[in-house]
Formats: sequence, structure tokens, C-alpha cells
Amino acid sequence: MSDIKKYSISIAILFLILLFFTTLVDILIVGMPRIIITINILIFIIIASILLFSATITRFIICDKKVNKNLMKFNFMIAKTIYPIVVSISELLKMSKSSIRRIFIKLNNSYVKANKYNLTGEKILILLPHCLQFHNCKFRVTSTIDNCARCGLCNISDLAKLGEKENVHVFIATGGTLARKVIIETRPKAVIAVACERDLTEGIIDVKGIPVLGVYNERPNGPCFDTRVSVEKVKEAIDFFKGE
Ligand code: SF4
Repeated sequence: MSDIKKYSISIAILFLILLFFTTLVDILIVGMPRIIITINILIFIIIASILLFSATITRFIICDKKVNKNLMKFNFMIAKTIYPIVVSISELLKMSKSSIRRIFIKLNNSYVKANKYNLTGEKILILLPHCLQFHNCKFRVTSTIDNCARCGLCNISDLAKLGEKENVHVFIATGGTLARKVIIETRPKAVIAVACERDLTEGIIDVKGIPVLGVYNERPNGPCFDTRVSVEKVKEAIDFFKGE
């Protein structure tokens, strides 16, 4: 089943839950003034319309159709608000949470890309996960990527070279707390985050007021172990923020 299908099913279930509770409230408030019943139905119609709007715009974005930037922004706000409920529903239905997360990341990246940037390298921060480092490497690249001996056994070497060439900050974060600390210290105008679906989603939700472009890492050896990333995709993200 495709990611968008799983997402749509979760939204449909959310709609049914909403309908169930509206009906329940309607039954419970029988005999109350008509205005209360009307307000209850009105609230249902508004939320249902928002869900329908969001599901339609999301489908358009996932299918790479052209969508107005403001609609994308509004839809992303809705997606962010309902994200914890949608993920919980997908979990209850035994559907992969990664599918919902991929949809969320695509909505974020599409919205970021709908804007124009013209930043210099030092205003861009690249955050990398520690699992990119070769498991047997003895160099402590988490304190600074400059410690990488650039042996080429993992992508860190290429990313260090890229960071140097493009004059962007590159950090290897061992967790969300450190990532937040690096953002506070470097005060970037844009972030390129490399991570798995779960960490990217958490990072995007966490970072406020700064555009974040998410790039998935590849996991040929399973999760969190000797992962890889397309350096090309990271370079594309840098070019985008530089307006090139
Ligand atoms: S490229 Fe750098 S981080 Fe990767 S194994 Fe070699 S020295 Fe270690």
C-alpha cells in the first residue's frame, strides 16, 4: 500500500472518530437549547472541511502537482497539528509510521522549496546523524568534523569536503538536544538535516522559525549502523538555499 493511501486511510478514520463523537455529543445534549446542537454540528462541519481540504492538498503535493504557496503553508500547519493523532491512528491500524512520516517530510520540503532563498554559506547549517560514521572509525568527529581523517570509508569525508568548499557549517549531532544546542549557537537561517524518517520528523517539528530541508539517510546495514547519504542531494539542498 502506498504512503499516501495509508495517510488517507488514517485521515478517513480520524473523520469517522470525529463523526462518532459529534453524534455522541448530539445524543447527550438532546433537550438542550437548539443553539447548542447547532454549534456542535457547526464545529463538526468546520473540522471535517479542514480535514478534507488538507487531505486534498496533501494528495496534490505528494503527486507533485502545482499548489499555491499559501495553501501549502496552511496545509502544513494543519498537518503539523494533526500529525500526532494521525501517527497514533496508523499505529493502531498496524500501518508503518514511516509512511506517515515520509508524507509529513514531503509536505515540509515542498513548502520550503516553494519559497526563495539567497543565503550565504555561513548562514546554512548541515546536521548529520552520528550513524553516518563508519562503526570502527577511531576519530572523534562528533566534537568537530575537522577531526575526520578523510579516509573515505564513510560519507563524513565527502560531507566535510563539501562543507569546506561551500563554506557551510557541518555538525554531527548525537541527538536532539545537541542538535538544538548547535542551532542556538550557530543561529543559522536555514538547516539541512540528514536523518531517518523518525528523527527528521521530530527535528522539523522541533525547529521553529527556520526552514529545514530533510534529506533521508540510506540504511543498507539496518537502522543506525553505517548509514549512508547521497552527497548530491545535500549539495542540491545547499544550492537551493544559496539560490543557485
Ligand atoms: S571518512 Fe572520516 S569519519 Fe569516516 S571512517 Fe574515515 S576518518 Fe572516520
